[in-house]
Amino acid sequence: MKELYKPLRGMRDILPKDAYGLDRVKRVGCEVSSRYGYRMMETPLLEDVRVFGRSLGESTDVVGKEMYNFEDKSGLEVALRPEMTAGIARAALTHGWHQRLPVRVFYGGAMFRYERPQKGRYRQFHQIGIEALGVGGSQGDSEAITVGYEVLKALGVERRVRLELNSLGSKESRRVYRERLYDWLSPRREGLSEDSRRRLESNPLRILDSKDEGDKELLVDAPGVEESWCDESKRHYDEVREHLTLLGIPYSENGKLVRGLDYYCHTIFEFVVEDWGNQGAVLAGGCYDGLTSLLGGVSLAGVGWAGGCERLLTLCEEEMGEEEEREDWGVLSLGEDAERVVRLWSEKWRGEGWRGVNIGRVTLKKGLKTASRLGLRYVVIVGSDEWERGEVLVRDMDEGTQVRRGYEDWRLWLGGEG
Ligand code: ATP
Ligand code: MG
Repeated sequence: MKELYKPLRGMRDILPKDAYGLDRVKRVGCEVSSRYGYRMMETPLLEDVRVFGRSLGESTDVVGKEMYNFEDKSGLEVALRPEMTAGIARAALTHGWHQRLPVRVFYGGAMFRYERPQKGRYRQFHQIGIEALGVGGSQGDSEAITVGYEVLKALGVERRVRLELNSLGSKESRRVYRERLYDWLSPRREGLSEDSRRRLESNPLRILDSKDEGDKELLVDAPGVEESWCDESKRHYDEVREHLTLLGIPYSENGKLVRGLDYYCHTIFEFVVEDWGNQGAVLAGGCYDGLTSLLGGVSLAGVGWAGGCERLLTLCEEEMGEEEEREDWGVLSLGEDAERVVRLWSEKWRGEGWRGVNIGRVTLKKGLKTASRLGLRYVVIVGSDEWERGEVLVRDMDEGTQVRRGYEDWRLWLGGEG
């Protein structure tokens, strides 16, 4: 039975400290994006596997290797969502969003990828993200980047990340680049990793996203995408860069940035922490015009990003130290009658905004020991002397002092602190 003491590989319990931090990342993300009109939504954890296969691309790592898919009891092949964009594109078709564009949404929740677990890489992890459908053009792209940057700023980590920017250009430009890259890589295929040799035929752009050291070295001299841009692609990208410059959002261009999924065109971007190596991307996205048509529906302009909550939380902690929600107050009762009264009184206090834990009916010694184990700052003590007179003892655990006050107004005496 020993093995049942552990969660599945790559899965973690989210203990209160992390739960608090992850929730804060989500709240900040939601608050910031709501300033731009993004409204919270969520898609189901499970979808028909084809929702991901068709939109992310069969040859991507996320679909080809990392998907948590299985047959359900009715024989349907389903998958736990590895990301939210595909599900939201599906939702756009489900709910006929093309009739009420533009639609801007924010999400936050658990995602699943069957990856090799390591620091910053889990099989169940969390993302926040935004998607803007029907905004389109350079305005959509630059807005998405701006919202991402503002979220990082609100979390206090924008100085730790570098914004990497690239444009894949229009669909046509991307096709031209794909051919150019194929022609350059073909004669060098022997130098590629096994995975990349396979990708060469199915999807050569994917190779640029390889984390294999040998591949990375070989790719240094590979052609960048910029020579393949058409005039329209170039103009679109110029406008995005102008917008970022206008707002003072620093970026560096990386002509080999492609991102892990097939559906991108035009602007793509990644906010990366430089000293974190292969797990350095904390928030990334791009433009995905036409993604909905891959699912068999109308073609919509789309742009968005996803941020990894665990990585963002780690970054916040590195910058600001760990933050934990902590109870300051406890209450304990000495004896049966006092216990009854404490139950009543403490509900009244809670109704007035007091927050505290009930240590229970204990001896004074045991109660104070529990209070210090819980790290409480103050303890309200009610014994038989106290309850009969409608009083409480308020003990300052740090100072070791205590005062006697009336049960109804002791909180006023504290200046609202309790
Ligand atoms: P990576 O290059 O690190 O594999 P990715 O390109 O696969 O990332 P995206 O699909 O862009 O990641 O997801 C957006 C963000 O989600 C990433 O930037 C990262 O912060 C986070 N993320 C992705 N996969 C994981 C994972 N397995 N565990 C924790 N966070 C993850
Ligand atoms: Mg990945």
